[in-house]
Amino acid sequence: MNEKNNKQDMNIMKLMEKYHSEESCRQVLAELRWPDGLTCPRCQSKEIRNSYTRDQYDCASCGYQFSVMSGTIFHDSHLPLPKWFVAIYLMVESKKGISANQMKRTLNVSYKTAWYLCHRIRNAMSDGTPSLLKGIVEVDETYVGGKTKGMGHGYKGNKAIVVGATQRGGEARLQVIDDNGRKTLHQFIRENTTPNTEAIYTDEWPAYKGIGDADTKHESVNHSAEEWVRGNVHTNSVEGVWSLLKRSIVGSYHKVSTKHLDAYLDELEWRFNNRENPYLFRDTLLKLINSENLPYEVLTN
Ligand SMILES: [Zn+2]
Repeated sequence: MNEKNNKQDMNIMKLMEKYHSEESCRQVLAELRWPDGLTCPRCQSKEIRNSYTRDQYDCASCGYQFSVMSGTIFHDSHLPLPKWFVAIYLMVESKKGISANQMKRTLNVSYKTAWYLCHRIRNAMSDGTPSLLKGIVEVDETYVGGKTKGMGHGYKGNKAIVVGATQRGGEARLQVIDDNGRKTLHQFIRENTTPNTEAIYTDEWPAYKGIGDADTKHESVNHSAEEWVRGNVHTNSVEGVWSLLKRSIVGSYHKVSTKHLDAYLDELEWRFNNRENPYLFRDTLLKLINSENLPYEVLTN
């Protein structure tokens, strides 16, 4: 069988073969968490004894008993690790994301378990220290969220505003914003691009005016005058991200509360920014094992 065309390091068959037991899952998590050998999470000692049960360790220095999951997002989870691994795989593999309802059916767990699981994985995907975009950067805003009965298509009162920036051929940054005024948009652009970004391309929305300077040119296409592309000037990449966003919310999530929208955006960003990464599954596991626990109460408060 020719598997050369599949650039992804993981597929559903490999997943079932390699990670069908608690033990095989724990082993890869330990390798990712402690690449230089077992280390006590409390005192960093490397003098570790195996405890009575095979998944527990004892620190010889401070006496701390721990497992590979201690202090991580997997901590205190009653869900079997192979189910976690399937969930992680489905979330990184699916272009449009996967709803809690779909996860519930696929894993045969309760809705609450599925919802909490999806949120913990999503939370780990967020990039705490994203690099600044450079080169040619496209910026645009879009509206997502509920229709209000009796209001026309153009009514935006019940919708959230999302601003996005994409570096041509590179990464995307997405964020929920309170308004699409000049101050907010300029701040978003300044916080997400290098000062000497070559060019910023937007549509004709006046709030973008003045974002260029001596080493950053600003050009816009006039969408209201049916101008979409002028030479190299267009916002097609960021609009490609909007189409992913809208297909995911309409197709899988149906309804996204504004409260959790930023987390969904992080998930979309993670998948988009890793679209060429053949080790996406492993890298997502790595983020999860290095993420702190996210209690259910924190999510729901
Ligand atoms: Zn210790």
